[in-house]
Amino acid sequence: MNNCLFCKIIAGDIPSTKVYEDESVLAFRDIAPMAPTHILVIPKTHIGSVAEISAENSAVVAHIFEVIPQIAKAEGLENGYRVVSNCGDDAGQSVHHLHFHILGGKKLSLEMA
Ligand code: 5GP
Ligand code: ZN
Repeated sequence: MNNCLFCKIIAGDIPSTKVYEDESVLAFRDIAPMAPTHILVIPKTHIGSVAEISAENSAVVAHIFEVIPQIAKAEGLENGYRVVSNCGDDAGQSVHHLHFHILGGKKLSLEMA
């Protein structure tokens, strides 16, 4: 039994505010936004984190990075945005399904650590 929160969002068992969806990728608004625009982009297949990306599953990651600029454009982030993926405990990863944060809509702090 897959107990993954984001797999449940993909399945529709937990509601989300979707901003983009295709056959392999879902994007939805973060429930606790840290910027005026805060979107999570995830593969529909379960990949635990960046540490689990491999030659076998990286096609969906490449696709995610094709989708991200489309989402950013649709969200009006013409002044720029940040793409972040927290990987593992030291980075504070709290949901163990690969996700890329899109953060924008304001001048972001350069603080990274
Ligand atoms: P992480 O801390 O793993 O990098 O990011 C997980 C993100 O998922 C956090 O920014 C958190 O606010 C978001 N999040 C956690 N639970 C939910 C949820 O049920 N719905 C949505 N839309 N976002 C969630
Ligand atoms: Zn999952």
